[in-house]
Parts: sequence; C-alpha cells; structure tokens
Amino acid sequence: MGTITPGLAGIPEQVDVVVVGLGITGAGVALDAVTRGLSVLAVDAHDLAFGTSRWSSKLVHGGLRYLAQGQLAIARESAVERGILMQVTAPHLVHALPMLTPLNDAMPRSRTAMTWGGLQAGDVLRRAARTSTRTLPRPRRLNATEALGLAPAMRADTLRGGLLAWDGQLEDDARLVVTVARTAASYGARVRTRARVTSATGAGVTLRDELTGEQYDVRARAVVNATGVWAGDLDDRVRLRPSRGTHLVLRGSTLPHTRVAVMVPIPGSTSRFAMVLPQPDGRLYVGLTDEPVEGPVPDVPTPSEEEVDFLLGVVAPAFTVPPTRDDVVGAFAGLRPLLEVEGTDESADLSRRHAILTSSTGVTTVVGGKLTTYRRMAQDTVDALGLTHAPCRTASLPLLGAVGTSTAPEHLVRRFGADAGLVLATSREVTGLADGDLLTPASPAVPVTLAELVFAITHEGAHDVDDLLDRRTRAGLVAEDRAIATPLAERAIELVLSHRRSAAHA
Ligand SMILES: Cc1cc2nc3c(=O)[nH]c(=O)nc-3n(C[C@H](O)[C@H](O)[C@H](O)COP(=O)(O)OP(=O)(O)OC[C@H]3O[C@@H](n4cnc5c(N)ncnc54)[C@H](O)[C@@H]3O)c2cc1C
Repeated sequence: MGTITPGLAGIPEQVDVVVVGLGITGAGVALDAVTRGLSVLAVDAHDLAFGTSRWSSKLVHGGLRYLAQGQLAIARESAVERGILMQVTAPHLVHALPMLTPLNDAMPRSRTAMTWGGLQAGDVLRRAARTSTRTLPRPRRLNATEALGLAPAMRADTLRGGLLAWDGQLEDDARLVVTVARTAASYGARVRTRARVTSATGAGVTLRDELTGEQYDVRARAVVNATGVWAGDLDDRVRLRPSRGTHLVLRGSTLPHTRVAVMVPIPGSTSRFAMVLPQPDGRLYVGLTDEPVEGPVPDVPTPSEEEVDFLLGVVAPAFTVPPTRDDVVGAFAGLRPLLEVEGTDESADLSRRHAILTSSTGVTTVVGGKLTTYRRMAQDTVDALGLTHAPCRTASLPLLGAVGTSTAPEHLVRRFGADAGLVLATSREVTGLADGDLLTPASPAVPVTLAELVFAITHEGAHDVDDLLDRRTRAGLVAEDRAIATPLAERAIELVLSHRRSAAHA
C-alpha cells in the first residue's frame, strides 16, 4: 500500500508515471493512473492542496454558467461530473446547496425571466446527467415570505419573491484533494509532499527534498505536469497570465440564519452574480472577483483592498444590515490560469475548460478546468499518455469514506464520511486520550478537534502547524481562529512524535 509522507526518503528510482503537483488535478491523475495498474509517484513542492485548489468557491457546478455562454459540451460535462461526485464517488463530501436569487429592485422582470429560464435549462442538464431530484431538487419560485424564511437577513421592503435552485457544495475543497490523494495512496500510489521537481522531461524528473535539500533522479515512462498556475515553470511553451478571484470570510452571525446561498446581481452585468455562501463550519464567504494579475506568481495570492470594498458594495443592497469592513474576519484569493501557447495563436480562458499539451521535452501538461471536472481531466490525461489499455475506473470508484455509515460524532462524519471511526480509533491509539479530549473543538467558533489533527499527521502527510490549520482543516482562514487552534495543532504534533519515539524504542 502506498502512503502520504513528507520528503523523498525511500522513493523508487523508476516508476511508470511521475505526477508533479498535488492540487485536485494532480491528485486526480495519480488516482486514475494507479487504478489502471500503473506505478505512480505523485509529488508536491509544498503540501497537498497548497495552490489554487484550496482557494475556490467550494462549489460543484452543474454547468449553468457554461450553458449561458453557449458552451454545451462543457456544461454537460460539468453536470455529469457533479452527478458522479454527489451520487457515487464523494457523496460524503459534496452536499446539495440551496441557492436563492432574491427578486428585488436589482432584478428587473426581464432579468428575472432570463435567470428563471437559465435555472430551468440547468434542470434539463441535471436530468440529462441522471442526477436524481433526491440529490438535487428542481428549481422553484418562492414568494417573499418563503424567501425571507430561508435568509431572514435579506432586506424585506423591496423583496417580491425569490428563485430557488440547487447545486453541489463541497464540505471543503482541500478535504476533497486530501481524500483523492489518500484514495490514490490506498491503491499503491506513492504520494510525497515537500518534494519539488526542479527539472522534468518525458523520461523522468529531478527532485529536491525540501526538508533535507537532497536531490533525487527518478526515471519514468511519462511525466505529468499538474502544477496549475506554475505550469510554465516546467514547460516553457506554456505561458500563463493568471486572474485573481477573491472571497471574504464573515462570521455566520453577521447575516444570521442564512441557510441558503444568496445570489446578488453585479451591477452593469446581465449575467454575473456575487454570492454569499454559507459554509458547513458556520462561516459565510462572499465572492468573487476577477482581476488580471501581472508579474511572478506568488505562493499565496493576497486580496486587494479594492476587492474587499467591491464585494461589500455589491452585496450591501440585498441585506437589511449590510456587512461592513468590521465584519470581514478573513479574505482569500486564488489564481485562475489564462493560457497562451507559444508558437500558436491559441489563447484561452482555461478557468472554463482544460487543456492537455505535450512539451518539446515530452512532459505532458494538464491545466485549467475545475475542481468539479477533475475526474474527467484525469481520465483524459491518462488516456493521452498511452501507457495502458486498461479502461478508466474512477467514475464508479468511491473515494475513501464514501461507502458505509459511521456512528462517530457528526463533525468527523461530515469531513471523513464512513472513515470517521478510523479517525477516532487512530487518535485514541496514538494518544491514549479519552474521547472528551479528542473531540472537544478548539473553541465554539473553531470546530477543529485533536482527533482529526492527529489523523492528519498519521494518515494524510501533514508535517507542520500550517499543514494542519491551512489545508487539513481551515481554521487558518481567520487569523483569530488560527491563534485559537495553534496550541491544539502543536499538541497533536507532539503527541504523534512522542508515540513514534515510544514505538521506535519498543
Ligand atoms: C477564485 C477561484 C474560485 C474557484 N471556484 C471553483 C468552484 O467553486 N468550483 C470548481 O469546480 N472550481 C473552482 N475553481 C477552479 C479550481 O479551483 C481550479 O481549477 C483547480 O483548483 C486547479 O487545481 P490544480 O490542481 O490544477 O492547481 P493547484 O491547486 O494550484 O495545484 C498545483 C500544485 O502544484 C504544486 N507545484 C507547483 N510547482 C511545483 C513543482 N515544481 N514541483 C512540485 N509541485 C509543484 C503547487 O504547490 C500546487 O499544490 C476556482 C478557481 C478560482 C481561482
């Protein structure tokens, strides 16, 4: 069985496929390749989900926006992949999210009719993708009282009613990446973090262990560059001009009892909406922007002050007491790739679709697409490598935790599905602590427990406090919550180290 571990000690000299980058794309490729019988080494320079994959809106889209742009094939692909995630591969991590478009002064009747038509077309896509109405109910019209019942913080005086539709929402984008990577490891993939590829050809890579500085050469039959906005560093034909998308983080109490996503039209656009998105952890996100970015790609992009003001300004008219800057407890930004391929006229916004390119040195680059469509991107990539005739299995292969039930506490079940019991049993064994210690949240507002932090180190390759708070859990999105959860993360690391020391002496 493969493992997820930091560093490169013990890696083989030769594999079938090296996957570079462990965002959702690389994790998906690793899973697809290993389940077709190929030997896989998958690496990330930092950590699982270090890049764009943890900065998304955390939606599993049914393709409505592509439909509006006339891109039927992509819309259909999104709807199919959404159905696979919600009904087969990750029902534990993707839930139905009700999305409400309030009908008020900002929604003239012509735009209301257009939006309703779009939602109906989205429902046709759902049906065509064989996603049941139990998974995603049909859209419906609400009167003002019904709309206010779902989002009582909305302004009532101008409200005529609402349009209610449903889409998929991830428990947490980083958790999907970690779960896909762990599933790949369970089939035998070797998954390594803190492992930077410093050069690559189609026949192998040179790697640097970021913990020790040691260099390694690994030969391969194929090398997949899944490094997202950094793809140009390994394939000089790929030129990316990223665009930044920012979300704000609010406490749930800022817009109390908001149980649905609220869609607020962006003034001056006929089709774009800002979204207020309630999260499973009780926070609210407000997103999102689209700002071209010049210059080198930063490790962690930073939202600008203008984006914060823009988002607050757009959503303000929808609420009785609009959120202000004082309510913004955090903000995060991710970079979308905009691709230019040298030597061709091709220039495409890959936030919508994915591309698979082969460099002059034989590296296969896969870039663009969406979290929603990661499985299909991985299938297309492994098909393009031409290393095996084995068919792709991932459409019917549940991710770890997807099958079965668990009697473990709800917070763990939400994040680990049927594996919640394993999380609890592992943390009991490693720490010797009682469930009271393992399951008490860091604070009422920070639902992070020692049990999941310990498991993150023993089973998910977490190495330090940042891995634990920024990618295995999301306490780090709010500075105040990070400070509260840091002692718990440090304690988890100490407990695991102490367990390993005693196991080594035994
Ligand atoms: C603001 C925003 C919101 C979005 N919202 C949604 C949404 O709601 N739903 C949806 O479906 N999609 C959404 N998307 C799209 C989705 O997030 C991305 O398409 C997806 O996360 C890209 O994943 P990736 O694995 O290709 O790249 P990344 O997640 O960036 O992964 C690349 C990885 O490569 C590693 N790496 C880089 N260089 C090297 C090297 N030399 N050696 C080893 N490792 C290296 C990095 O550390 C990183 O972890 C959104 C995108 C943005 C920007």
